[in-house]
Amino acid sequence: MPKKGWVPSPETRRKWSIARKGKKATPETIAKLSSLRKGKKRPPFSEEWRKHISEGNKGRTPTNKGTHQRHSGSFKSGSEHWNWKGGITPLDKLNRRTPEYIAWRKAVFERDDYRCIDCGAKSEKGNRVELHPDHLFPFSTYPQLRYELNNGITRCAPCHRLTPTYGFRLNNNPTAHSYAGAILTGLIK
Ligand SMILES: [Zn+2]
Repeated sequence: MPKKGWVPSPETRRKWSIARKGKKATPETIAKLSSLRKGKKRPPFSEEWRKHISEGNKGRTPTNKGTHQRHSGSFKSGSEHWNWKGGITPLDKLNRRTPEYIAWRKAVFERDDYRCIDCGAKSEKGNRVELHPDHLFPFSTYPQLRYELNNGITRCAPCHRLTPTYGFRLNNNPTAHSYAGAILTGLIK
């Protein structure tokens, strides 16, 4: 064991470094080092070391740069915003806010007694279940059936996620289309 205060020479350190290359500390070693460090605070950086860090950071982009735009006066919205993609908010999203959609959803839930058609979970006072009105024929592909009561079924959120028509997966998923078709053949003329 080296004496207290003994500092290895640069040459020694270099040799150690080479010897250690490609080797991983064993879990025991890590645990040992960790227990040695426990309860000890890192001594404050010396003035010289601070300068060293500061030099090293020059010209570097802070990792949090740009994350606070929302709170700054220069926050850009719409086409000025960095994440603007040319106004592609899915029609779905917009249409889900219309009074028509809200009325349709309510009608579907009421017809199904606020019960998931798959697992039977019922949303009621004291036992709220997140229910989704699921379109058998998807919302985006069959606009003519958008607010058709018979095109809607009540599903709880977890069951809804299990369906092949969940979210936008369907858009390029022919299996999902035929799945919807198999359930509702006859709805579309
Ligand atoms: Zn369910």
